[in-house]
Amino acid sequence: MQERTRFAPSPTGMLHIGGVRTALYAYFLAKQTGGAFLLRIEDTDQARSVEGGVENIVDTLHALGIDPDEGVVRQDGQLTEVGEFGPYRQSNRLDIYAKYAHQLIEQGDAYKCFCSRDRLDEVRKEQQKNKQQPKYDRHCLNLSDEEVEEKLKANTPYVIRMKVPEGKSTVPDVIRGDVTFDHKEVDDQVIIKSDGFPTYHLAVVVDDHHMQITTVIRGEEWLPSTPKHLILYKMLGWDAPRFAHVPLLLNPDKSKLSKRQGDVAAEIYLEKGYLPDALVNFISTLGYNPTGDREIYAREELVELFDVSKVKKSGAVVNFEKLDWMNKQYMQELTREQLATLLGDLTEVELRLAEVEKMRATTTHELKERIDQFKELGEYDATLLVWKKSDATDAREMLKAAADYLEAHGNADDVATFEASMKEWIQSQDIPTGNILWPMRIALSGNKVSPSPFELVYALGAEEAQRRIRLAIERLEGPQ
Ligand code: GLU
Repeated sequence: MQERTRFAPSPTGMLHIGGVRTALYAYFLAKQTGGAFLLRIEDTDQARSVEGGVENIVDTLHALGIDPDEGVVRQDGQLTEVGEFGPYRQSNRLDIYAKYAHQLIEQGDAYKCFCSRDRLDEVRKEQQKNKQQPKYDRHCLNLSDEEVEEKLKANTPYVIRMKVPEGKSTVPDVIRGDVTFDHKEVDDQVIIKSDGFPTYHLAVVVDDHHMQITTVIRGEEWLPSTPKHLILYKMLGWDAPRFAHVPLLLNPDKSKLSKRQGDVAAEIYLEKGYLPDALVNFISTLGYNPTGDREIYAREELVELFDVSKVKKSGAVVNFEKLDWMNKQYMQELTREQLATLLGDLTEVELRLAEVEKMRATTTHELKERIDQFKELGEYDATLLVWKKSDATDAREMLKAAADYLEAHGNADDVATFEASMKEWIQSQDIPTGNILWPMRIALSGNKVSPSPFELVYALGAEEAQRRIRLAIERLEGPQ
């Protein structure tokens, strides 16, 4: 079956890693079945919406390569909508929700409630005192038609509540199995607020139905709301979609991940220079593993192998050291072309440095720093040139020999071949390896920790390498 799935965030701040995980699962399922992945913006809680929230969601998903087939997208720099089931922002669908709310009232499945905040607070306090579950006491359900008319005439603000019937609802959850809720525990939920906006509960049901969503994948914090949704589906005579409630993400100490907001916004990791493919691999395999026998999965494999029923029921611990490890694996696989695209305008020397240092850098940021560190020769202490088992005279001799070797052999076209032939030559000269490679490393990099001398010759070119080596020789000849 071609699945239609959706990611339906509220634009209340930066997109979290947990949100990305939910979006990815919905995306994988849609792609695997040749269906459609939608991005719907749930902005009915105007007070919680933040400026730039929608842009952040759209742009972060795009940067991660999770592009919706329908819904809110950016085209030619502007936010716009694609697809035939729009509008895809709930704030532009108010008349649709109002229509169904009134239908529910007509059917006797919903009613107007005029209770003031004060009264509701009092009822709640009383219930708490009596150790009862706080629930609306249906005061307004018993108003006569005349009383309702009167209140409307007097412009008394009101909400619309669903009238939860007696009975039970079972959520057939793909991840958790059947979860049954007794309606005794379900409140007469407000479905339209006094400002005319729907609550999430009505809007999500109407939209998932109208947008023909086949599987709803969302955070498990919504599981207790799902019986309300099932009741609404039934009242409206619609079939409910399949549900999969994804467990929370946790810190290594098992506390809820979203506690430290700064660390959980997905865009921070993009800004820090983690690769989109690595982030997608890392985030989607939190509490889920397609085959259970490895950690690294290409995007296509994640799509092909996706099985939502394999998502673990328990909260998934996020270990950022693992992200570092994983990003390194992806960094090492980058081709010359990919490096050029990722890092922007690079000179040949910079590109070659990128090629050798990608094996050691954790992020693209760190890679850039390393390129900058080695492309120009910085200041260094000349005594560093002397290998611990040797002396300045020997260091000078060795550097001269190295410079001559480079002069005779020209540029290194690839590191491995150059390294093999230079090592063979070193052996043939009976030179202890450290005695020549150490001063070469310092001369070429100005640093104890650097790419290997062979990598540096490859990256810098024989001419620049010789220049740096001769400079070192001069420094060894000067006053120590
Ligand atoms: N707007 C809800 C959220 O931001 C979406 C819940 C759902 O996917 O149904 O979490």
